[in-house]
Amino acid sequence: MNNITIAIDGYSSTGKSTVAKQIAKHLGYVYVDSGAMYRAVTLYAIKNGLISEDDFNKEALVYQLDQIELSFQFNDQLGFAEMYLNGLNVEKEIRTLKVSSFVSKIAEVSKVRQKLVGIQKKIGQDKGVVMDGRDIGTVVFPDAELKIFMTASAEKRAERRYQELKERGDAITYEAVLQNVTERDYIDTHREDSPLVKAEDAIEIDNSDLTLNEQYTKILELVKMTLEGCE
Ligand code: C5P
Repeated sequence: MNNITIAIDGYSSTGKSTVAKQIAKHLGYVYVDSGAMYRAVTLYAIKNGLISEDDFNKEALVYQLDQIELSFQFNDQLGFAEMYLNGLNVEKEIRTLKVSSFVSKIAEVSKVRQKLVGIQKKIGQDKGVVMDGRDIGTVVFPDAELKIFMTASAEKRAERRYQELKERGDAITYEAVLQNVTERDYIDTHREDSPLVKAEDAIEIDNSDLTLNEQYTKILELVKMTLEGCE
């Protein structure tokens, strides 16, 4: 059976990565969390004093892009690939609310996008990949055989993300998470370069009232139909 490319786009905290990981595991495909790459660049910018509440030195970030080395390394125990920034595992550090609060500003920078899209295209060149993000079906893999666009109400998404962060022991409030989700939605859909938009041929899934298992079953059904259509 031919391998296909599966692009899963959508708003922040729609649970794209959870379901994408499950689908990739089931198919024996590579899973790529493209958001992790934007988060890793953001962590680099924070650590190097390039972005803060009141300042963002875009020129310096662009100048230093060559010094930012990103890679994924598969973790057998977890069953998915973790994000490495300049040789260090940053999987945990990139998930904090601080990184979330700056990441959409970093993702607006075209040179950053060019670098990351280049890496993403390379990873997916042989197909057999499930990638999630904001521009996967529109920019990274416009020819993907299956494109899914995930949505859910901002409140539902913030609630899920809040529970996740709380379980990890982060001291945050629901209101702060909701504000972050709403802000990122705004920046991601309004930026000039590759804004978040549903690809014309994407299938929309509103998962506000769907369990994880229901989402998984639905997407797997779509995968099967797509694979049959490709035979
Ligand atoms: O998916 P995640 O929420 O981790 O993504 C973090 C941020 O990275 C998004 O809010 C968006 O600003 C940016 N992003 C992007 N394009 C992608 C993936 C993520 O602009 N393909």
